[in-house]
Amino acid sequence: MVRIITTTDELQQVRTEEKGPVAFVPTMGNLHAGHISLVKAALKECEVVYFSIFVNPKQFGPHEDFNRYPRTLENDINLLKECLTHFPNRRLIVYAPVNPAEVFPHKSERNISVFGLSKILEGAIRPGHFDGVATVVYRLFELVKPMTAYFGLKDYQQFLVIRQMVQDLFIPVEIIGMPIIREQDGLALSSRNQYLTPEEKKQGLILYHSLKEIEAAIRGKKENLPAAQNLIAEKLHDKNWNYLELRDAETLSEDISTSSRLTVLGVYQLRTTRLLDNLQLELT
Ligand code: AMP
Repeated sequence: MVRIITTTDELQQVRTEEKGPVAFVPTMGNLHAGHISLVKAALKECEVVYFSIFVNPKQFGPHEDFNRYPRTLENDINLLKECLTHFPNRRLIVYAPVNPAEVFPHKSERNISVFGLSKILEGAIRPGHFDGVATVVYRLFELVKPMTAYFGLKDYQQFLVIRQMVQDLFIPVEIIGMPIIREQDGLALSSRNQYLTPEEKKQGLILYHSLKEIEAAIRGKKENLPAAQNLIAEKLHDKNWNYLELRDAETLSEDISTSSRLTVLGVYQLRTTRLLDNLQLELT
C-alpha cells in the first residue's frame, strides 16, 4: 500500500500510530532508477518505508535552479506504486509537502551546520548548500524518526556530511550509502541530466571516463599516486571542470599520505548544468 501525505500534521499522526521500526529515503522527487534503488533497498530491509519528496529551498543558492527544478509528483507516485508491486507485504508512506512552511513552519529556524566537511569542494562552490541539506535532513529525521536512512553515494560529500551530522548530534539513525546507478554508457543518473542536450550528454561522459582513467592509473597502489595527480593536472586544463580531486574517502582531507581509502570526486560543468560524480578506491 502506498499512502500519500502532504501535510506535516498528517505525517505526525500516521507516524505516532506506527509501532515498529521505519526506514527512510529523502529525495527531491523527479524520480529515476537511482532513487528507486534506494527505496528498493529500504523495502528489502524494513516493512514500513517513509519516502519524502520535497524540493528544499534552503539548499539552493539565490542564482540556482530552485524554480525550474523538475517537479513530477504524479509520475513519481506511479513509479513508487510500480516499485511496491514487487514488495506486496510492505507499506510505503510518501510525504510530499508542496508548501515549504509544512517542513519549516517558523521564521526563526534552527540552522544545522556540519563543521569542516560542509565548507570544502561542493560547499566552497555552493556556500550554504550543505547547511541547507543538513537542516532539512535533520528536520525530516525529527518528523520521521527512522531507524535507518538511505542515501546515494552519487552525492558522496552529502553522504559524509549527513553521517557526520548524525554522529555529532547523537541522532539514533543508521545512515546507509547506496551505489551510484548509471546509464549504460556510465553517466550517473541525475534529475538535472534532463537540462542537457543529447550532444552535451555525450560530452558529459568525460566525467565518468576521467574517474575511471584515474582509477586505472592508480591500480590500488600508493606509488602510482604521483602519476595520477599528474593526469588530473593535465585534465584540469579543460576549463569545464569545477574540480577533479583525489581525497581521503573518510575525511575528504587533501592529505592522502596515510590514507587507505581514497575518493576521486569531480564536477564537470556544461553551460549551467554541473555534472557531479565520484568513485572510491582502496589502496594496498
Ligand atoms: P535528490 O532527489 O537528487 O536529492 O536525491 C535523493 C537521493 O537519491 C540522494 O541520496 C541521492 O544521492 C540519491 N541519488 C541521486 N542520484 C542517484 C544515482 N544515480 N544513484 C544512486 N543514488 C542516487
